[in-house]
Formats: sequence, C-alpha cells, structure tokens
Amino acid sequence: MGDRLMMVGAGLSGAVLARQLAEAGHSVTVVDARDHIAGNCHTARDAQTGVMVHTYGPHIFHTDDDGVWDYVQRFATFRPYKNQVKTTVEGRVYSLPVNLHTINQFYGTALRPEEARAYVAARTADIPDPQTFEEQALAFVGPDLYAAFFEGYTRKQWGTDPSNLPASILKRLPLRFNYDDNYFFHRHQGMPEDGYTALVAAMLDHPGITVHLNTVFDPAETDQWDHVFWAGPLDGFFDYKLGRLGYRTLDFETFRADGDWQGCAVMNHPDADVPYTRISEHKHFAPWESHAGSVLYREFPRACGPDDIPYYPIRLAEEKSLLADYVALAEQASGVTFVGRLGTYRYLDMDVTIREALDLADAYVAARADGETP
Ligand code: UDP
Repeated sequence: MGDRLMMVGAGLSGAVLARQLAEAGHSVTVVDARDHIAGNCHTARDAQTGVMVHTYGPHIFHTDDDGVWDYVQRFATFRPYKNQVKTTVEGRVYSLPVNLHTINQFYGTALRPEEARAYVAARTADIPDPQTFEEQALAFVGPDLYAAFFEGYTRKQWGTDPSNLPASILKRLPLRFNYDDNYFFHRHQGMPEDGYTALVAAMLDHPGITVHLNTVFDPAETDQWDHVFWAGPLDGFFDYKLGRLGYRTLDFETFRADGDWQGCAVMNHPDADVPYTRISEHKHFAPWESHAGSVLYREFPRACGPDDIPYYPIRLAEEKSLLADYVALAEQASGVTFVGRLGTYRYLDMDVTIREALDLADAYVAARADGETP
C-alpha cells in the first residue's frame, strides 16, 4: 500500500509531485486555497472576447532540459512560440533583449557584430566581479543603455534602487551582437495549446490524486499524513512567527480593445514617468488563434501586503537573513518538505520548478523503496 500524502498547492510543483507520486502508487490529496488549479500560471478564457488570458501575468515556457520538455508534452500539445519583447523608451520603440538591432536603433548606427561589440565595450565600466544589478548593467551594457532600458524598469519592478539589487536578476537577460530577438536562449520554447490550466489539469488527472479547491491546510495537521509537501509560502507554514518574507506583488489594470492594440504580446515601458512596467496583449500569446477583440493588462508592481498574492521573492540582505531563520525552522520540522517558488522563496522559472519536482518525487520514491520513513 502506498503512503497517504498531502500536497499543499495545486500549482506546477504540486501537480508534478502529485502525478509522480501517484504513478508510484501513493495516494495524494492536493489542496489549494484558491478556487482554481495551476497557481500563478493559471489561464482562463475571457468571456467577452474568447482570448486565453494569463490571469496572473505572462508565462512563456522555455527550457534547455530535454527531460522537462518531454515531460510536459505528455500532458499538453505545445505550440511553437517565440518571445519577442519590445520596449518603448521616450516615444521610440526598440527591440529586446538588447541585440544588434537595439544597439543600432539606439545609437543611430549601422554597426556590424564585431564593430558593435567594440562600440559597447568602449562604453562599459571595468568592474571585474559585479555584485549589484547596477554594477552588472554598467559592466554589461554601459551607462547609456542601462539608463534607457534597465534603470527605470528595475526601479519600478523592485521598488528600490538597482544598486541595492543583486547582479543575478540582470543575468537572466541576454545581450546579443546579432539580430536574434528571441528573449530566451533555451532550445525549447512553446505555449500549451489550451493554456496552462489544462496542462496542470491533465497532470492532476490520475486515479491516485484527489483535488480540493478553496481549502486551506492547517500545518498543525501535518502528523495526520505520511508526508506533507508544502508549496505555500515558507513563512506561512510557521504562521509568520518570525515576520514576513518580502515579496513584490502585481496589480493588473485590464482593458479591452478591438483588433490588435499594440501588435505584440509584451511591450515594456521602462520610462520613469510611466507608472507601469509593461503591457501584455494576451491574444498574442496564442498566435494560432484568431479573435476580433483583445484583452490587455497594464502591470503595476508594488510591495506585497499580507492579503496580496506574492509574486517575486525580494531576497535582499534583510530577507535573506530572515530566510535563513525560517530555513532553520524548516530543517527541524518533521514530516514536511518545502517545494516550489513560495516554499523555497526563490525566483523560479517554470521549467526549473518542474525539474525540481521531478527530482524530489524520484528521491522520495527511492527513499521509500530503501525502507526509510518519510
Ligand atoms: N529588466 C529591465 N528592463 C526590461 C526587462 C527586464 O530592467 O525591459 C530587468 C528587471 O529588473 C527584471 C529583470 O530584468 O526584473 C528580469 O527580467 P525578466 O524579463 O526575466 O522578468 P520577468 O518576466 O520574470 O518579470
């Protein structure tokens, strides 16, 4: 007989873990406090226009992990999708990520790759081991491109000066000396044809899995299960007793239009005098569909309060110190494993989330096969 397992959270971590553990013969109960599955990658069709809306903001699947790519194909048909983001700076539109087109547009030049490399190198600061976002940007693209494309956006996104932020945030983005405007450099990229919620629903569709929505799990009941996997906020498991780990949340201002409003899925707005960071036009996330109407989101980041939905873990020095205290508590807690973006307080892409859930499920199954208690 398999174990009776509790999976708290029906997002990607929860769905992958539940699926793998159910396939291994365990009985998994998945609960989620919200009224839908798929966590922050939830998608739903807009009743007025029929457009598939990324309810909690854009999610584009990309990975270099062949195992993860094969895994998601089991549960959904993926359509080819290339993330080609544009950005509007002081009334002009540029290509992102910063590439040869951006550089030539910005400087009014017609440089070839090696010329552009030298041109940008002559403008960058010599900072051997950049620590902060600002240092990384100055070493990477220099002050002009930094001021135009990164400084204002980052200040709005994170609510702090980029000199307070880690270099790792900028390292997510490429800089290219050719005309490749693919935002990601991973070999696999695509969108699930029927949205992410259908993908997660297919993962959860297994006789060994029971899902309860609108259900809050009380950590005091952990000992009633053979094991609990907690994909909720790490500090939430401990009733926030040491204080709250800081997050950024997002407010979306929805608006509708006829036809095609901005001509692309994502237009960034780094200018400091524009209060939002970007506008997403959801129909462009499903370019194989056709809709007369359009649904758009203006995205406003702000500090996450106790009743808001957490998005981006902040992870500055203060948060890291609090995180270390919670990790110490987590290590002492028995019968529970903390998983996913909220459970581990990390800025995780979807593919990494899936990889970690697959590996964790394998580790659990192997440990049980060795006779270890959960
Ligand atoms: N960023 C920026 N300008 C842009 C896009 C991104 O300064 O036009 C910075 C910003 O600090 C952001 C980080 O780069 O948090 C990572 O960007 P990414 O597009 O990966 O953010 P996400 O889509 O995950 O919010």
